[in-house]
Amino acid sequence: MTTGKINVSVENIFPLIKKFLYSDHEIFLRELVSNATDATLKLKHLTSIGEAKVEYGNPIIEVKIDKEGKKLHIIDQGLGMTADEVEKYINQVAFSGAEEFLEKYKDSAKDSGIIGHFGLGFYSAFMVAEKVEIITKSFKDEPAAHWTCDGSPEFTLVAHDKTERGTEIILHIAEDSLDFLEEFKIRELLTKYNKFMPVPIKFGTKKEALPKPDDAPEDYKTEYIDIDNIINNPNPAWTKQPVDLTDEDYKNFYRELYPMQFEEPLFNIHLNVDYPFNLTGILYFPKMSGDLQLQKDKIQLYQNQVFVTDNVEGIVPEFLGMLKGVIDSPDIPLNVSRSYLQADGNVKKISNYITRKVADKLKSLFNENREDFEQKWNDIKIVLEYGMLSEPKFYEKAGDFVLYPTVDNKYYTLAELKDAITANQTDKNGKLVVLYASNKDAQHSYIEIAKEKGYEVLLLDSPIVSHLIQKLEADNENLTFTRVDSDHIDKLIQKEETQISKLSEEESTQLKTVLEEIVPKTTYSVQLEPMDSNASPFIITQPEFMRRMKEMSQTGGGGMFGMGNFPEMYNLVVNTNSELATTILNSEKSAQESLVKQALDLAKISQGLLKGEELTAFVKRSFELIK
Ligand code: ADP
Ligand code: MG
Repeated sequence: MTTGKINVSVENIFPLIKKFLYSDHEIFLRELVSNATDATLKLKHLTSIGEAKVEYGNPIIEVKIDKEGKKLHIIDQGLGMTADEVEKYINQVAFSGAEEFLEKYKDSAKDSGIIGHFGLGFYSAFMVAEKVEIITKSFKDEPAAHWTCDGSPEFTLVAHDKTERGTEIILHIAEDSLDFLEEFKIRELLTKYNKFMPVPIKFGTKKEALPKPDDAPEDYKTEYIDIDNIINNPNPAWTKQPVDLTDEDYKNFYRELYPMQFEEPLFNIHLNVDYPFNLTGILYFPKMSGDLQLQKDKIQLYQNQVFVTDNVEGIVPEFLGMLKGVIDSPDIPLNVSRSYLQADGNVKKISNYITRKVADKLKSLFNENREDFEQKWNDIKIVLEYGMLSEPKFYEKAGDFVLYPTVDNKYYTLAELKDAITANQTDKNGKLVVLYASNKDAQHSYIEIAKEKGYEVLLLDSPIVSHLIQKLEADNENLTFTRVDSDHIDKLIQKEETQISKLSEEESTQLKTVLEEIVPKTTYSVQLEPMDSNASPFIITQPEFMRRMKEMSQTGGGGMFGMGNFPEMYNLVVNTNSELATTILNSEKSAQESLVKQALDLAKISQGLLKGEELTAFVKRSFELIK
């Protein structure tokens, strides 16, 4: 047997880092600003515990472009490095000084917000630079050091005459990366990744008007001075305590997060845990609208105030994907593949925590101000209904706040709805019948008929409603949902008195034969029903089961039924007690045909089914009749 050490040649590592370490070259800036921030926060920590006996002051980080020299500078006033420390921290690839620091100051520094931990961030500079210089002066009483490396594993390290504390990183931008010398590009990157980092970041200057002096002359011209242009807000709302924030603060932060978004959010949820994982954040329920901008704004994921991604898949439960806001957690393993992420126990816990927080918030909003909650219902229902379908944990809690509005804008919880219909709405098996409509206009006549009888009709118009009621029925044995136009109302809801048909059995058979000869069999199945003589003579209905299966297969989930291209089938319910039924029976053959066709068309109009050529023919025939 032979054992040995695999020999990793450093020469080969640089090109690898350059190519594969990060798929996005632009993150080099995030990494370098993160290191500058870490250096500043470390100094803050060391001064606070008395280990660094220097004045902390108000350190900032500066990013500077030298277009002519093709250089980008990142300058900090943090703790700096001695020559020995450069040897130790920089010359050892994949040795993280950040982790070492956290290890060393375990107890006192755990909330210090130190970002780095893989010891690879610094080398991302070589993705865009052909040469990198570090000029650094430690807070310790030692001379400054100057490190230079051109991307080959050779470096030089010499003394430097820098006297102020801190580090300057100089990137000599490579020919293929010159766009990183453009002001707008750097501004874009800083705004994207560093907008809420904890140490102020200066990029260029801006003009500020001097206050007008009291003794200003008539023709006083406003004077301007150049001030530092700070691109970040070091204390974003999510890092504060909820008690310290007003409604207005939350709204302002929303605007800060999405400057292009003019619609105000409906409400927010402040997330704040530190055990068993660390997570802070603010989620917003947006007003749903067709606005495309709104779709583009997503939840942003941060780690210690550094933007990481707006792909929160796996971390935020899918049904909350439409929400806006930020989540900040140092405990999400981000530099690993997404599939690993899904399996990570911590990540699952985070997702469950978010679900629970959202449910709790909804419940308290509902309890505190139900009227306001009802008003917001339309904007939030899709998210909630989707949540009920996709997250069992959310479904369990949904009973407390999910609403079922009627066509007349009355809002019931499921429990309230059951109470409201118990006395009045049962079917022949004794089940409670929940009548609903999906479109107030299209199903108007059916809704009216149901309302006349004193029934409650819900308005359930979300695209996923068929899935939802399927689930509600499965979990509530004594409940059945049926759309108002799925059958004749008196068949949907069992009434004491059964109607007796005016027609004899023989007449009924005769009528049925006549109707079936005229009405197209492929679309309609004719059913004779004795009803009130003043009820509609012809009604078109579509059985609940058929329609729901079809809808479910169209909105996903029920594809296995293969009903996507199932033909439209309807029932034509004919009231045998109507005058029209008798008239048809007693007419000549040709008159029968036009009566049936006319009546069928009227029933179709009521269902919104009469269109195109058929509609034209109907209008023409109707004019003939009144001529
Ligand atoms: P990490 O940040 O994960 O520790 P990096 O490769 O980004 O790894 O940096 C390596 C180490 O180099 C840091 O931990 C730190 O000790 C040192 N370093 C990098 N940049 C600076 C800086 N601007 N000031 C002081 N030390 C720095
Ligand atoms: Mg780093």
